[in-house]
Amino acid sequence: MVKRDYYEILGVPRSANETDIKKAYRQMALQYHPDRNPGDKAAEEKFKEASEAYEVLRDPEKRELYDRYGHEGLSRTGFSGFAGFEDIFSSFGDIFEDFFGFGTGRRRSAGPRKGPDFRYDLTLSFMDAAKGKEMEIEIERPETCGTCKGTAIKPGTKKETCSSCKGTGQVTHSQGFFTLRTTCSRCRGQGFFIPHPCPDCRGAGKVKKSKKIPIKIPAGVDSGSRLRVSGEGGEGERGGRPGDLYVILHVEPHSFFERHEDDVLCQIPISFVQAALGEEIEVPTLNGTKKITLPPGTQSGQVFTLRGMGIPHLDGYGKGDQHVQVTVKVPAKLNKRQKELLKEFASLEGKED
Ligand SMILES: [Zn+2]
Ligand SMILES: [Zn+2]
Repeated sequence: MVKRDYYEILGVPRSANETDIKKAYRQMALQYHPDRNPGDKAAEEKFKEASEAYEVLRDPEKRELYDRYGHEGLSRTGFSGFAGFEDIFSSFGDIFEDFFGFGTGRRRSAGPRKGPDFRYDLTLSFMDAAKGKEMEIEIERPETCGTCKGTAIKPGTKKETCSSCKGTGQVTHSQGFFTLRTTCSRCRGQGFFIPHPCPDCRGAGKVKKSKKIPIKIPAGVDSGSRLRVSGEGGEGERGGRPGDLYVILHVEPHSFFERHEDDVLCQIPISFVQAALGEEIEVPTLNGTKKITLPPGTQSGQVFTLRGMGIPHLDGYGKGDQHVQVTVKVPAKLNKRQKELLKEFASLEGKED
């Protein structure tokens, strides 16, 4: 079998630099990757051929030998290309990671692959976060189309090989002395057409389905808390388990309560008479109202703590506290009698009973 020219295989000129060569190989590797073309012998051959070409052209020493003496020059050094995929993936492992954005050793990419994780943003009221809640959320996610089983082809019809590129996904153009290979524009490099796309998924192979998922929000969650719902992410591939759903919580502020970690803060206005004479007052808490006793001579800004009346600790037992800060209101309007009394009050200040 006559070996094809490595530059021609990758579709790059002889002057191509390292980046061009890598780019060209990346494109071919993505296109002919065995995971994308299971059982396709032609794609497999192309993938091996491109990998061999890349193996030589990325290595300055091998490239020079090849440039000078061609395939023969290399075979004299003992280079014989790759025996199989295992070989390719073991020598290009790091490159594939680079290409695909994640580690894809042969084992990992061909075997079962876990489905993608999904994110769902959920806004909760202050009270729901403080007390916890059981609820349902509805998510939309793509699932394999039941009609075409993910093939995107209408049942009873077949895909058609692209006549422009004869299924290779690439076309050659001659320009003077040069022969250029480019991705087939008719089939966009796929090598085939689907004349009758599956009507149910419109040729996508997947359909969006909505699903209601019950979730239990534990008491004490806060903005940024993340709930993991195991197995409710995207479908796995080749028998892989599904991904997980992460529910990211956003807690709305409350008009009265403010949260500081697991403590709750609030402000209560009291009259200056209540402050001066002392009084028992009722304070709203997360669970109904609670009485606190203001001692005579309570000052504006003073803080009273209700132990254990705060937000439950998320990781453990117990709760935070509620801190009640009182602010003394000075009356803005006084009637005549009130003024008289206050003047009298002032005249007695500093005197003993
Ligand atoms: Zn379908
Ligand atoms: Zn084509």
